[in-house]
Amino acid sequence: MLTDDFLDFLFPRFCVICGKRLSTQEKHLCLSCYTHLPRTNYHLAEHSELEKNFWGWGKEMPIEKAVSFFMYNDANKEILIQLKYKRNPQIGTYMASQFAKEIKNDNSTFFDDIDIIVPIPLHWMRMIKRSYNQSYYVAKGISRETRIPICTKAVKRILNNKSQTLMQRNERQDNVKGIFRLVKPELLAGKHILIVDDVTTTGSTIMSCAKEIAKAQNTKVSILTLAMAGQTLIPSDDSDILPNVKITKEVLSKL
Ligand SMILES: [Zn+2]
Repeated sequence: MLTDDFLDFLFPRFCVICGKRLSTQEKHLCLSCYTHLPRTNYHLAEHSELEKNFWGWGKEMPIEKAVSFFMYNDANKEILIQLKYKRNPQIGTYMASQFAKEIKNDNSTFFDDIDIIVPIPLHWMRMIKRSYNQSYYVAKGISRETRIPICTKAVKRILNNKSQTLMQRNERQDNVKGIFRLVKPELLAGKHILIVDDVTTTGSTIMSCAKEIAKAQNTKVSILTLAMAGQTLIPSDDSDILPNVKITKEVLSKL
């Protein structure tokens, strides 16, 4: 049987940030790049900056709590590029499970009252282009560590909105209006839902999804994203043209 050491010798793996060869124990990032990720530590704050960001959307949709793992910047953008555009969704699962572990190790109660995880749905056209929903892979990492189930059947993305990369906040709000539809409210009624996404800037996409979820009876909503973007532009969703995408039964079931 081949050992991990021997497999690493045959198929060397490299850190997605610095390019250094990874040791057998390291995954996706070397220990140094992982350690130096600019963590937000929002889960340690009473009200995180991300949470306050959502207050600007008004009282109609109160967000219980909101956390992000790290601040997105030029140095670490390759994590999200790999996740979204280079067909490496496992990096999202890995980073999310590491984040969940860190939250638990900090004795945070963040996950204690969450009932169900809803990854931000992808429109089917984008799903065909990419072949997977990156948010679902982030959700998988959280679920693996917390045992909280994932629900992909309750909310659908019904409009394939334009990329928001170069839009102002008010334009973004208009751009995401009505893009989601709650199709199975009974799956979410009475639950505290954790909406999960890979990255957020103004939170407009997440809020649009949260508003739709709130149509189910007696729900609470919290938010978790891998990254929080400040000034650094996120690569456009329109730029991902992935060749040879195979539509499988599994892909379609995630729509
Ligand atoms: Zn590195």
